[in-house]
Amino acid sequence: MSGRGPILVVEDDATNMKLTRIVLEAAGYAIIGAENAGQALACLEATRPALVLMDLQLPGMDGLTLTRHLKAEPATRDIPVVALTANAMVGDEAKALEAGCDGYITKPIDTRRLPAIVSSYMPRAGAPLP
Ligand code: MN
Repeated sequence: MSGRGPILVVEDDATNMKLTRIVLEAAGYAIIGAENAGQALACLEATRPALVLMDLQLPGMDGLTLTRHLKAEPATRDIPVVALTANAMVGDEAKALEAGCDGYITKPIDTRRLPAIVSSYMPRAGAPLP
């Protein structure tokens, strides 16, 4: 269980968004969806998610740039960011980690494993809030 807040899913592809939402809601997580960086930033003004799932390929500001922004801001730097990388190109993972992502998931999403992967990146239930 999430325990402390929703998961913010930043994903511009409607099919991937729907799939991610269905799988994670079925696992007991609350999901907030954002189609682009602007929507994600607006969500973060109002809500502190437990985790951000970040598609790297977004229209406008891309996911790497948005992650760098979040990790540079004291208010958001402690929120774990897990990248969704469409193309398992050599170097993409390194780029994601270099931008400050805490981990990455390769698309297409493995729906059977997604809840466990997400759970592994969630803040520990007993850990103090930042
Ligand atoms: Mn995309």
